[in-house]
Amino acid sequence: FAKQRGKNRVEEYSQEYDEWLRRRTTVEHELRGAIERDELRVVFQPVVSLPSMRPIGAEALMRWHHPELGTINPDEFIPIAEDSGLIVQLGTWVLNEACRQLARWLADGHDVWVSVNVSPRELHPAEYVTRVADVLRSHRVPASRLVFEVTEQAVATDLEELKARLAALRDMGARIALDDFGSGYSSLGQLRHLPVDILKIDHSLVWDTGVRESQPAPMVDVVVRMGHRLGLEVIAEGITDKAQRATVERAGCRFGQGSLFGWGVPAEHMEALLASAQPAHVPPVIPPALPA
Ligand code: C2E
Ligand code: MG
Ligand code: MG
Ligand code: MG
Repeated sequence: FAKQRGKNRVEEYSQEYDEWLRRRTTVEHELRGAIERDELRVVFQPVVSLPSMRPIGAEALMRWHHPELGTINPDEFIPIAEDSGLIVQLGTWVLNEACRQLARWLADGHDVWVSVNVSPRELHPAEYVTRVADVLRSHRVPASRLVFEVTEQAVATDLEELKARLAALRDMGARIALDDFGSGYSSLGQLRHLPVDILKIDHSLVWDTGVRESQPAPMVDVVVRMGHRLGLEVIAEGITDKAQRATVERAGCRFGQGSLFGWGVPAEHMEALLASAQPAHVPPVIPPALPA
């Protein structure tokens, strides 16, 4: 009987694996033509200044709607794009779209920056930096308006190479954000030696607290304080309600992002948000990058 059950489990497992593999193969195959078929979009999620809630920047996020498969989540297709190498093509496309919109917003007089997510695979070839320079030039966008978000996962790969690449982007005037901080295997020692300007606190740390406004948030407090001590700007991600916002603000965090302020929206909607926001009475929301 035990043997029989074991066998069934193996069959079940291999059936699940088959399904998983089939889905993955389909997604990868369809993703190859997604740009040409015009199935991809970029949405922008506002990053706000915390006391005023004024949008000061926006994170560019990829969206994919396939006519038959429906809407496919980035958490599903990004890892597939990374493994297959397609991420290089997709990332370039997103960077172009982001810079195209950014150029319009800047031309309209908005004081705003845009961040893009960059996978380790994209950063790996040294050509990445020249490609970024080309895109910026073609849209006449100053590098100082661009933020590159990398994850702790990227940090864990090839530290020396990553450092060189990030430093080169920074030399151009762009800023670097460490994304999802506190979600994985964070290495504080590495953080200390990486050319990073901004720390993005992962939503899991934010959600862990802020259930009641009176509740203390030791993790958020410590991360914000540490970030500031290292001379970094800190953005709290995934703020979904007022209690979380209050907790994060009390910790001294000056910038936030999350559904409380808005989900990712099409460029035109982001433009409306920028246009309706109060003009800034205070100078630059995030100071220029520190020398490496
Ligand atoms: P991320 O860079 O950490 O992006 C933040 C994610 O959290 C986004 O999910 C966003 O929609 C979601 N989010 C923001 N606020 C809230 C909130 O208040 N509540 C909840 N429940 N979620 C919130 P999304 O767009 O599904 O993206 C998932 C991940 O996919 C991103 O995580 C990023 O790692 C990756 N990704 C998305 N676009 C790109 C891209 O163009 N290039 C690369 N390399 N990765 C991308
Ligand atoms: Mg991000
Ligand atoms: Mg994040
Ligand atoms: Mg993430």
